[in-house]
Order: sequence, then C-alpha cells, then structure tokens
Amino acid sequence: MTKFTRFSLAMMLTLTTCVALAAPPAKQTPSSEQDIKAALSGGVPGDRWKEGLLFEGVKPMPWLKSAANWFPGTEEIQPEEMRVTFMGTSPSIRPGQMNTSIFVELGNGDKFVFDMGEGAVSNYVAARVALNQINHVFITHLHVDHFGSLPYLWMFGTWAGGWHEQLTVHGPSGRTPEYGTQAMVDGMKKMLGWHIDAFSVFPVGKGWDIKVNEFDFRDNGGVVYEENGVKVTHWQRSHAKDGASGYRLDWNDMCFVWTGDGRPSELDIKYAKGCDLYVTEMQAELMEISSGVQGVPPFLGRYTVDTHHTPAYAAGYLANQIKPRMFMTTHMAFDPYQNEESVAEVREHWKGPFHFGAPDGIVVNMTKDLVWVREGILPDFPNNRSPQFDFSNGQLVVPLPPTTREEIQEPFVREQQIDPKKYYPEGYHPVLLEDWPVKSDLVVPLDTMPPSLTNGMGEEWRLKQKNLEKLGKE
Ligand SMILES: [Zn+2]
Ligand SMILES: [Zn+2]
Repeated sequence: MTKFTRFSLAMMLTLTTCVALAAPPAKQTPSSEQDIKAALSGGVPGDRWKEGLLFEGVKPMPWLKSAANWFPGTEEIQPEEMRVTFMGTSPSIRPGQMNTSIFVELGNGDKFVFDMGEGAVSNYVAARVALNQINHVFITHLHVDHFGSLPYLWMFGTWAGGWHEQLTVHGPSGRTPEYGTQAMVDGMKKMLGWHIDAFSVFPVGKGWDIKVNEFDFRDNGGVVYEENGVKVTHWQRSHAKDGASGYRLDWNDMCFVWTGDGRPSELDIKYAKGCDLYVTEMQAELMEISSGVQGVPPFLGRYTVDTHHTPAYAAGYLANQIKPRMFMTTHMAFDPYQNEESVAEVREHWKGPFHFGAPDGIVVNMTKDLVWVREGILPDFPNNRSPQFDFSNGQLVVPLPPTTREEIQEPFVREQQIDPKKYYPEGYHPVLLEDWPVKSDLVVPLDTMPPSLTNGMGEEWRLKQKNLEKLGKE
C-alpha cells in the first residue's frame, strides 16, 4: 500500500467516525403561520402581478429533473409530450453554434429531424441520440447550411446500426428537376461512391437504400408525411430562389412549426396560425455594428437579409399574427452584443412568451397544457450512444456485409501490412478479426446476448412500449 492511499484511508475513517457521532437536529418551536407565509411567499407574485416568463402555461413539468438545465439521458419523454431540441442554430458555423438542425421527439416514440446542417451531428451525439434513431429528415431548402451533415449521417448512421430502416429525406422540388431534393441526393450518392463501397465491408442491410420524398414546392398546405397520428405539411418560403419550404408538424393536438429561411410572408401566417410552438429564423437589424464586429461589408449583410431573411422586427410581427404558446427564433448569431437588441426588436410587436432557439442545446418540453424552455448541457467529449433496435421479434439481426476486403482492395498493399508479432508484446496474441465471422445474416436471440448489450440497445424500444401502453390506457 502506498503512503498516499494509507493517508486517504485514514481520512475516510475519521470522516465516517464524525458522521456516526453527529447528533440529530434538535426540534424547535415552529414560527407563526404569518411569519412562515411572509418568508415563503414574500416577493413572489402569486396572482398579484406578472413577472418575466409568468405567462399562462409557461411552467416546468413535474418530471423535469431540473427546471434550469436539461442533462441528456436523464429524462424520459412522457407519452403525451413533445420535446424539441435545437441541435444547430446558426448559418455561420462555430463551436457552440453548428449549422441549423432541429430535433423533434414525440411521446409515441417517433423522431424527426428538421434540417441537418454541418456539424449538427456532434450535438445529436452529445444529446445521446444514436444515429440509427434518425430515419426521417425534412430539409427546408438546399443551402448547404441546412443539409451539410447528411452525408455523414447517412454513412455513419448505417455503420452504427442503421440496417433495418432506410433513411428518408423529405424535401421540396426545384423549379427544374436539377434543383430538387432528389437531384441533391443523387449527387450525394455520386460524391459518396468510394465511401459507400468502402463501408460495404460492414453490415448494411437497408442502410444504402436511401429514400427521397420530393414534393412539389408550389403545393402549399400539401401533406409531406402522415403516419401514426403525425402529419407534416409544407408551404413555400420566399428565399430568393424557388424551392424553399416551411414545415408544420401536427400530433396529439399540438403543433410545431419550423419556417426554414425566408422573407416574412402572408403564407407563414396562413399555415402557422395558432401553432403551439412557432420557430422562425431571425436576423437582428444591426448591420453596422455586426459588420464592425465581423468585418463583413454592411451592404452584403443588408442585401442578404433583404432578399433572403426575416428581420427581427418582422419575426415579432409574425409571432403576433400567429399567436403561438411559445415563440422561438433560431438560425441567428447568439452574441452578447446583439441579444438584447434582438429581443427589443421582437418585442416591438410580440409581447407573449419568447425564447431564443440558440445557442445549441436549447430544449423545449411541451404538453397540451405546459411548455418550458431550458438550456441543455451538452458535453464536449461525449461517447456515442449504443445503436437502438426494435427488439419486438426477440432477436438482434446483423445483416451480412455486401462485400469483402478482397473484392475492393488489391492484395499488394494488404501484404505490406506489418506482421502483428513484431508489435504486440511477447505473450500477447489477440485473434485478429480480419474476415467477417459468419457467412449469412447473424441472428442472435436476445436471451443469448450479454445483458449489457440487450439493455443498452433496447432502451428506446422499451421506453416506446411503456409509453404506448400508457397512451392506450388513457
Ligand atoms: Zn440558412
Ligand atoms: Zn437559406
């Protein structure tokens, strides 16, 4: 035993002794009812006046572990709940603000991604979302800050267990076919040719069968998706070029809107009217200051906003027309020098509940009665969550990889690999897994799997069963 551990042990023993010897607190005479009331509710509005966020229905739910912060993996989504997390919040990518992406989770187990900007994957990982849980991505338009993470999500999501359900990309058509979502995905497939073939030495299953649901961008109010009581509709946004859309998701008598990018328009009011959670992009009117800070010529900022975006005054105007239970803005710089100004501009028109959907990790919990917004605490060095599987059939099925190294690599370079005996220490002889160990799909009954795997990979499936059961009972 080293000197140090002996010392710590002695300390611990002393501490334990102290705790054991401490007397229970003595009982004292209670204060008067009046004093207790004055101390516990003094300065608290009650029904007497309104302060800051005391709008009706804006309140933390009892099942939240903390009203101030959200810690990923510590709260189960409730059967009736919608949870919305901002995974990317800015058109200018930087640590703390990845490109735009919004994650919507429903109490029935469904999950949807709205836009998938560059870098956003890191926040999904930090929020303990396994990449194979993402099966539906709705792209508002084809500016790269709204879909840049798609290649990574597709390739590594397949590697990480995306074998049984294909990835579906929903998005608008363009005015001509080459500008539509299908054309973008076709181009992405081409760009990923090497990667797809390379990763085909792994299990793939349905992973490579990416599906595109391209809708006519002019079909305002059209339904993009309708399943399990979830309906997603779309409308046109004015974003300098045809083929930009806003989305509205309706489920369980609740509604979420993400406008994507665009100029304020009468269509926004028409299709988002009365929605519970209305999220729009926003740019503050600070061209001179922000050009001073960022070094961008003011006319470039002005021209970009006036042709493409929603000024903060307009955001407030729209909110006041739409009258959501919670209004949020994202796709914006979250900077001390402009946050107060942004709020002031929004407040010119909208006096109701308002919160920034920025920086990354802001999370919204919503039920029919309550809505609450918190800052999520996303770790810098998270580990991946284990892939999540539907274990209804009592099995884990691992598809046979479509190809082998021999098929995609000439022998020469493999033969140049250093003999492992030269670098492994003496007496250490790992059995290298150089060939896929089985010749067909691997089917593993759950009861033959180590509990650590069954538990980790079945978490979401079990939660979904539990919630569906509760929903069915009500
Ligand atoms: Zn954008
Ligand atoms: Zn855009």
